[in-house]
Amino acid sequence: MDVVILLGAPGSGKGTVAGRLVAADKTLRHVSSGDLLRDAVRRHTAAGDEAEAYMKRGELVPDALIARLVAELMAELKGPRVLLLDGFPRTVAQAQMLDRTIEDCGASLSAVVLLDVPDEILVNRIAGRRICPACGAGYHVTNIPPRVDGICDACGGALKVRKDDNPETAKNRLAVYQAQTVPLIEFYEARGVLRRVQGTGPIDEIVERARRTF
Ligand code: ADP
Ligand code: ZN
Repeated sequence: MDVVILLGAPGSGKGTVAGRLVAADKTLRHVSSGDLLRDAVRRHTAAGDEAEAYMKRGELVPDALIARLVAELMAELKGPRVLLLDGFPRTVAQAQMLDRTIEDCGASLSAVVLLDVPDEILVNRIAGRRICPACGAGYHVTNIPPRVDGICDACGGALKVRKDDNPETAKNRLAVYQAQTVPLIEFYEARGVLRRVQGTGPIDEIVERARRTF
């Protein structure tokens, strides 16, 4: 199994790009650390109860917590040719934990795709983001509107604003990205696996640019 890491700020489009890549190629599998955590919070697992307060504040959950969730999931994965990791790793410590997990699974890291998006666009994307809690599909009120206002195209579910997409928490998440995740760019650049992809413009073109990197 090849591992492809999607790196980028909150609102950079990691989840949207991953969703479209998987829709076009069933040998890919998408794992979002944010979705894993939100699911754990909803199910009130021990990890979810611990993670909830951090997520509400827009802070990162402890490295070991998320690394364990991802490692457990990767150990069970059978089948995908490529695993798209979205939202993990986000710190250098997590990247080191992921190295061990990749080795344990007999997998290999094939690319780190950095979605490059200017800050002022990020703020607008986060403010307009809507998600379908039922199926995980993502929308944006003006950029990717659903066919019927407030209703998921894919499953008919009611669209919601994510709790941590309010302006205050979103600002904190962007600051956390700068402080804790940006150092990963250099970490992976030094290994020669970093691929920069322009994350603005028509979505189909962004997806195609990302697809060509691995
Ligand atoms: P975004 O990237 O748009 O901020 P995510 O859905 O990826 O949103 O993450 C939401 C929240 O979940 C983060 O603000 C953080 O609290 C937590 N989280 C997700 N992934 C990680 C991670 N790899 N390490 C620590 N915390 C994480
Ligand atoms: Zn849906």
